[in-house]
Amino acid sequence: MIVLVINSGSSSLKYQVFNMKEEKLLAKGLVERIGIGGSSLTHQPLGQEPIVTKEDIPDHNKAIQMTVAALTDPQSGVVKSMEAIEAIGHRVAHGGEQFADSILINDEVTEGIRKLIELAPLHNSPALMGIEACARMLPKTPQVAVFDTAFHQSIPEKAYYYALPYEISKKYALRRYGFHGTSHKYVAEKAAQLLQKDIVDLKIITCHLGNGASIAAVAQGKSVDTSMGFTPLEGLVMGTRIGDMDPASLLFLMEKEGMNTEEMNQFLNKKCGVLGISGYSSDFRDLETEANNGNHRCQLALDIFAYRVTKYIGAYAAAMNGVDAIVFTAGLGENSPTMRQAVSKNLSYLGAEIEDDKNNQRGQVEISKENSRCKLFVIPTNEELMIGRDTYRIVKSS
Ligand code: ADP
Repeated sequence: MIVLVINSGSSSLKYQVFNMKEEKLLAKGLVERIGIGGSSLTHQPLGQEPIVTKEDIPDHNKAIQMTVAALTDPQSGVVKSMEAIEAIGHRVAHGGEQFADSILINDEVTEGIRKLIELAPLHNSPALMGIEACARMLPKTPQVAVFDTAFHQSIPEKAYYYALPYEISKKYALRRYGFHGTSHKYVAEKAAQLLQKDIVDLKIITCHLGNGASIAAVAQGKSVDTSMGFTPLEGLVMGTRIGDMDPASLLFLMEKEGMNTEEMNQFLNKKCGVLGISGYSSDFRDLETEANNGNHRCQLALDIFAYRVTKYIGAYAAAMNGVDAIVFTAGLGENSPTMRQAVSKNLSYLGAEIEDDKNNQRGQVEISKENSRCKLFVIPTNEELMIGRDTYRIVKSS
C-alpha cells in the first residue's frame, strides 16, 4: 500500500511517501511559506537530489495540489497517478479525550478535530486545512488522523488530573494530555525490540529531547505518565518554552510587567527556556559551543535543562517502581553525547551506567556499560513511519 504522510503546519507542509508493505520511504518533501510570499516546494525522491519549485502558494489547497503533482511527475515522481496513492495519514496534534487511537477520517472525525482547535489553535487548524485540502484533491482516498496525544490516553487519572476543583477540570477538559506520543511509542517499541523482550514485560523511560522536549513513562507498552500537560508548555525546559513553573509567579510577572494573557502566552512559549536563560540562543549546538568558550549563562542553560531531565527520569522510575531502559531521541537526544552524559551521570542508583566510547557513536546505539542493569539507548525517532504504519493498519482493516 502506498501511503502519503502529511504533517501540516500553519505556513508549512511536510510530506513523506512510503510503500508500507516493505516500510520503504519513496520520497519526501516540504512546502514552505504557505500564504506568506516567497513560497516553494522541495521534493526529494529517495536517493536523488532535491528539486525546488518556487511558486506562489497561497493556501493548503495549492500546497496539496503541488505535492500531488510532484509525486506523479513523469520524471521525478514516485507514483504513476494520483490513484496510486492508496491512503493518506495526517499528523494531528490534539486528539483530546475523544481520540485514544488513530482513526479513519469521516465528517464526524473532522468535526471532532475542529472542536479541539480551542485546545490547540496553532496545531489543529493547520492539520484540518491539510485534511480538507486532501479531501478536495483526492476525494476517494481514505484518510487517517494520527494524534500526538493518543498514546498518552492510557495515563491513569492520578497522573492526568491537576489539583483543580474537579468540576473545573471536567467542565473544561482541563487535564494532562501529553504530546510527542507517536515518537514515544515508536522509540519504546524499538527499545523492546533491541532488548529482545516483549514490551509488556518492560518499564521504559523515553526522552524526546528536541526544541520541544518531553519525557514519558512507558509500562507494559502503555504510556503511564508524561511531562507535557494540558499544552506542550509543561514539563522540561525547552528551546524557548518555560516548562514547569510556579503558577503564582506568572500572576506576579503579569502584574509587574503589565502583560496581558496573549503577551504572557507569547512570553512563556517564545522567550523562555534555554533561550531565556542563556540570552544567547535556543539552539543547543550554539549553547554547547558557547559554553565551551566559557559563557556561564549558556552553561547554566544546559545544566538546568539536564538537571530537569534527570529529575523527571527519577520521578518516572519511582512512578513505575523501576526502569529497564532509558531512551534518548529527537534532535538533541540523538545528536548530543554531552547532553546524554550530563543527564545520565546521576542515574547509577537506577543501575544505568553510561559508557563514554559508546556514547560518542551515532545512529541507533546502546550506550550503557555491559553490566548496566538498566540499558541506555539512542534511538532516532521516526514519527512519519509510525503515522504510515497506523494509516496502513487502519485502512487495511476498514
Ligand atoms: P523540533 O522537532 O522540536 O523542532 P528537533 O527534534 O529537530 O526539534 O531538535 C532540534 C534541536 O536539536 C535543536 O535545538 C538543535 O540544536 C539540537 N541538535 C541537533 N543536532 C545537534 C547536535 N549535534 N548537538 C547538539 N544539539 C543538536
